[in-house]
Formats: sequence, C-alpha cells, structure tokens
Amino acid sequence: MLQLPLGLISLLNRLRLGESPLAILYYHRVMQQADPFRPDDPTIDAFEQQIAYLSRHFNILTMDDAIARLKSRTLPARSLVLTFDDGYRDNLTQAAPILAKYKAPATVFVATNGLETGILWNDKLTHAIEHSSAAEISLPEISVQLSLAGQAARQLANSQLINQLKFLPQSERDRWVSEVLEQLAVEDFPRLMLNPSELVDLRNQGWQIGAHTHDHSILSCESDEDSAFQIRHSCQRLAEVLDEPVRYFAYPNGLYGRDFGQRECNVVKNLGLEAAFSTNDGGATSRTSTWAIPRFMPFRKQLPLFALSIAKIMGEHE
Ligand SMILES: [Zn+2]
Repeated sequence: MLQLPLGLISLLNRLRLGESPLAILYYHRVMQQADPFRPDDPTIDAFEQQIAYLSRHFNILTMDDAIARLKSRTLPARSLVLTFDDGYRDNLTQAAPILAKYKAPATVFVATNGLETGILWNDKLTHAIEHSSAAEISLPEISVQLSLAGQAARQLANSQLINQLKFLPQSERDRWVSEVLEQLAVEDFPRLMLNPSELVDLRNQGWQIGAHTHDHSILSCESDEDSAFQIRHSCQRLAEVLDEPVRYFAYPNGLYGRDFGQRECNVVKNLGLEAAFSTNDGGATSRTSTWAIPRFMPFRKQLPLFALSIAKIMGEHE
C-alpha cells in the first residue's frame, strides 16, 4: 500500500537532488504512558509502531555509516538515521529494547549536566509545576504571572515558562529556575537522565553517543567564551565517561540562524568533530554543510502519514 507512493517520492527526490538524500529524525523520550506535560513524546506502543514501520520502509543506518555514505554520495534510497536528544534514561529502558528487536541503530546526544544531576532544568520545572500545591508563579521583574489553578493552566504555565526562560543566558536562566522552585516548594525530583554507567551500557549495545552541550544552553544566547565552553566541556566529559573521543554534536533547540550560527559551527569544526546537527527541516545531501546537518520530526505522527511526510521532508534541501 505504502510502497508505491514512497517509491515515487524517493524517485522524485533523487531526480531533483541528483542523489538520494538522508533523513535524520530526532526523538527525546519514549514514555511508559501518555503524559499531557510531554505531548510530543511517543508512548512505548506508538514508538514501536513507528519503528516497525520505518524498519520496513526505510534503510535505518548507523550515524557512522550514514555520514560516510553521505560524503561519498553512496546512500541507498530512503536512508534514515534515528537520534535521541538530551540523554534520557528511558532511551535505555524503553527505546533500546524496541530498537534491538527491529535491529535499528541509534545515536543519542547527551547534555552532560544530566549525567551528574539526573534531571535537566526544564524537567525540574515541569515536575515542580505538576506536583506543587502553590496557586501561581510570580516573577514580576520579567513579567511572568502564571496561574496553576487546574491541570490545563499548569500545562500552559509549564510551556510558557520554559519557552520564556530557555532563551536567557544559562546563568540568568538558572537564577530564575531557582526562584521558581522556591515558590513551588517541591523537594524531591525523579532521576530522568542516564547516569555514566547507563550511558556506557547504551554505547556497549551499539548506540553512538554525541554531545549536546553541558547545560543545554541555547548557544546564540551565550557569550563567545560561554558558548565555546558549553560545546568543549560536554565533549570532554563524554570522552572521559566513554573513554573514546566524541565525534558528533547536536545544537540545543537547534535552529540555524536563531539558536546557533557560524560561530558555533567554527568551534565544533576546530574541535575536530566529524559532523554537527541542527533541527532545521530538510534532508541532507553531499552539498549540505557538515556543521549544520538538518534533522527533523514530522508534525504528523499517524501512520502512514508519518512515513510519507518523512519522505517528503527529506527531499527538501536549502
Ligand atoms: Zn535538547
């Protein structure tokens, strides 16, 4: 049923681009059950359906293989790489067994702060907003006034607050996060991120590991020095944990021109990495800059539209 339209779109992509493009998808978490605070993350069941489908209709490659073939223009039609951002523990506990079942390789990009603290700032806020008995969040200095009356208000408060704070420099952002956590008076936080030995376990299962900054800072919001530190430090920390050099990097938030730019591309290049990844829509070809290779996640999650939109988006090229 799907073979024909997929084959047709792939053929058109190849004719128009002069080569078969590469699709790189990015996920974050794979949830035990649906969570209204994380509407974009699939449940285990939805994830397995997607992977079953993708493994039937696409060639799922390791990052190493995909990048080598991208450079030598030898990608097979419908080539696809699976990536996961941030370094969630459920990548090991929920995603890895499903990927192993379908023999699908993957890469995870780790924000190294999570290896030690077990939770990143945005998830700390989400957990506190979900569980606090406070009625509101009030930060008049930055015009934040959010009601926590009811589940819908909490979901809205959560997304609004994270979207506002994430574009601040990391030190300033973390000061506001502390202030909010004080107002919400929640003490215990779950460990959501991989710890160093779990990361080694994932690597030993065949996953490739890339860096994703230390504090998950949006790099364009940082000074030259701080931006370079975030990239360098996450690579060094991962190299220590894995006892091998890091070769790939994904920019947090990831939109070229807004969340990072040529300044960051130069840092990554000078560190001697192999390639770095954005979140701009589109496929990669041999003409794509190695330091800003696009990755995407289709807006449509229903099968078979999920697979068809991947084939369509991977044919888009800047
Ligand atoms: Zn991220």
